[in-house]
Formats: sequence, C-alpha cells, structure tokens
Amino acid sequence: MRKRELERFKKMLLDMKAELEKDWEHFEEENLSKSLRDQVGQVSSFTTHPADMGSVTDEQERAFLLAGHEKEILNAIERALKRIEDGTYGKCVMCGAPISIERLKAIPYAEYCIECQEKIEMEELIEER
Ligand SMILES: [Zn+2]
Repeated sequence: MRKRELERFKKMLLDMKAELEKDWEHFEEENLSKSLRDQVGQVSSFTTHPADMGSVTDEQERAFLLAGHEKEILNAIERALKRIEDGTYGKCVMCGAPISIERLKAIPYAEYCIECQEKIEMEELIEER
C-alpha cells in the first residue's frame, strides 16, 4: 500500500477513534448518574410500578450492548493503528492476504480478508446451533 493511502487510513481511524471515545465517555457519565439515581430511587421503590422497572432494565441492557460493541470497535481501531506502525496494515491477520482497498474504505479497522471473514461467520453460525 502506498504511503499516501496509509496516511489516509490512519486519519480515518484516528477520527473514528476520537468519535467513539467521545461516545464512550458520554456513556460512562450517563451510567454513573443513572446508578446514583438508582440508589436515591431505592428509598421510594415501593411507588415504582413493576412494568416501569422492566422497561428501564431493557433500556440499560441495550445501552450496555451498544457500549460493548463500541468498545470492541475501539479495540479493533487500536489494533489497526498498531498494524499501521508495524507495516502490516491492510493484510489479513489470519492468512496474510491483502485486504481490498474497497473493504478497508468501508471498514478501516477490518482485520480479515473477505474469505476469512466469511469463514469466521460460517463457524459462528455453526457454533450457535
Ligand atoms: Zn484471510
């Protein structure tokens, strides 16, 4: 990969990282204040309708799932930035084949070529059964 292209991907990754980190901090703040509210809320928990409590739990669960996903992407971005430093960026971490530029443009933190990605997804499908 040409240096100019590499620099462009590096910038994309750094932008994504900054964006996600902002989200992540926001989530942690939200969550902190939520748990504080929960503690305060315990005093008046008798007045809380069970249905309302259920919906809050679902909402928190979704937030956690989303945050977990963001954290995963953040980790993948970190690894991609490290690969740029190592000079292995753009190569599949499983088979070493180059990942297509088109794929990297869509997912700059992609770790696998399409073939390996499909293999992994297949295996995940089989494991779920
Ligand atoms: Zn591969």
